[in-house]
Formats: sequence, structure tokens, C-alpha cells
Amino acid sequence: MKDIFRDIEREYEELRRENNRILEFRTSKIYSEIPQIKEIDEFIKNIGFIAAKEQILNPSEDARERANAEIIALRGKKESLLKNAGYSRDYLDEIYSCNKCKDTGKLPNGKRCSCMENKLARELYNISNLSYTLKRENFNTFDLGVFSKEKYNDEDLSPRENMEMILKISRDFIKTFNDENDRNLLFYGPTGQGKTFMLNCIAKELLDENVNVVYQTAFTLCEVMEEQKFRRTEISNLKYSQLFSSDLLIVDDLGIEMTNSFTASGIFNIINKRLLGGKKTLISTNLSPKELSSTYTDRVFSRVFQKFIPIKFYGNDLRLKTNS
Ligand SMILES: [Zn+2]
Repeated sequence: MKDIFRDIEREYEELRRENNRILEFRTSKIYSEIPQIKEIDEFIKNIGFIAAKEQILNPSEDARERANAEIIALRGKKESLLKNAGYSRDYLDEIYSCNKCKDTGKLPNGKRCSCMENKLARELYNISNLSYTLKRENFNTFDLGVFSKEKYNDEDLSPRENMEMILKISRDFIKTFNDENDRNLLFYGPTGQGKTFMLNCIAKELLDENVNVVYQTAFTLCEVMEEQKFRRTEISNLKYSQLFSSDLLIVDDLGIEMTNSFTASGIFNIINKRLLGGKKTLISTNLSPKELSSTYTDRVFSRVFQKFIPIKFYGNDLRLKTNS
């Protein structure tokens, strides 16, 4: 437990050091290119120093305001010198990878910053293992060509047309992810239809945007819940709370084995609380909506799943195709 936080703290330290190095490099470059800026910086330092001394000996609101106004004017001059030389005005400002917490992981109100939550989720849920999968399975490697253009059973759309539609819905989901809407997706259909692949595409895209994503199979989700119930530790507490607090929870492969009442009600409790908190969830399952509603009781099912857009995957098993 301690190790996780210590590792993350080290990461922040390294980040701050790296950003400082960049700033030092920029400063020495600018000082030699535009010596006037070096003079201004020394001036600013001096004014600050003298004003601080003055405040101790002879505190005066006027003197402090005068010093501040002088510093602001000098900073303005420095910024226009930078701009005239083709640099951005903030080129010599402190650099932060996360402006919200200034690379400390903590917000001014003492709460954990979202970048800290991301790091925690990554450590707790082994997102680094996931990232290996995401390198292979993402929108860039997604190939519409593997889906048949032939009509399939009684479906109106061919598997390829259907997949084009799913692709569009998935991209819309990403585009509107930060909007307040009830857009949760339920991917259903037999195995080998690309459901998990599509979940991976979405996860990759949102992780790249620094969204806090927790990706679990229904099976490992049950393990987290059991751990929390029977062997509660600080880690299991954290993992469990992330199921509720993450920006996006992905539950892959919700199936028939999850039907004992403890796990079923546990999963629904999580999804329901997320819905109430305006947090989004993606689910994939091999069960049809009909099987789902008979597996889970109708009442629970309809309340939760009316907030999900059901999306059907169908066609020939793609895994057989790639093996042949
Ligand atoms: Zn932050």
C-alpha cells in the first residue's frame, strides 16, 4: 500500500525535476539571446527583496502596492520582449504537467487531483498491462474489412454496415464523453464479434485524453467485490472506491456466471450509483437483453438498463476467420 503512494510520489518528483530542467534550459537560452530579460529578472528580484525588507522595517500598504505595480509592469515588458522575439509570452513561466495541482497530486482543497486518481487506477488495476493490449487494439488497427458485406440472418444491416454504425456511435460516445448525458453503452452479442476490441478502442482514446478509466472483466470485478467483503485491506478499499469514482467504468464480458445474488446485486449497486452520480459505464455481454432480464430480475434490470443504449453485434465468428 505504502509502496503505491511512494512510487507515485516519486513520479511527481521526477516530473517536477524534469520540468525544472526544461525551464532552466529555456532561461539560459533566453538570457543569452535577449540579455535585457536577464536584467529585468534581476530587477524584479531586487524590487521584491527591497520591498520585503521595507515591509519589516516600515510596514506600509502604499509601498507594497507600488512595488507590486512595478513588478507587474516589468513582467509585461518581459513578456513583450519574448513575444517580439517569436516566443510565447509564458515561455519563462513555471512549467506544470498538470496545472490543476501543479504536479503535487493534491488540490488546494486537500482532495486528490484527477491526475493522481489516474495514476492510482493505473497502479491498482494494472492499466500498464492493458496498455499493451491497447497498442494492438485501437481505432488505428480497427479493420472494417473483416466484417462481411453479405446479409446475415434476418438482420436489416450487413455485419459491415452494422459495424460502421457501431463505430459512429462509439466515436460519438468519446466526443460527448464530458457532456452530461445518460449515454451508456451496452454491447451484446455472441463472442468473436469485436465487442472487446471496440471497448479497447474507446478505452485507448479516453485514456489518451487523461480520462480516469477503470477496465475490468466482470470476473475480476467480482474478485474486487469479494476481496472488499471478505478480506478488506487499504488496497481493496481504494480499488473498490475507484469502481464508483472513476470517470469511466468498463465491464467486459458480463455473463451468466455472475448470477449468484451477491455478485449480481454488487454489480448493479455499482452501476446504479454511477448512474446516480452522472458517471458513465460501458458493458459488454454475451447475453441477449432477454437473457439478461431473466438472469437478473426484471425490476432491477429495467431500472438500470433503461439508461444504456443496447447495441447488437452479429455476424460470423471473427476469431475463426483469422485462424483459417
Ligand atoms: Zn493534477
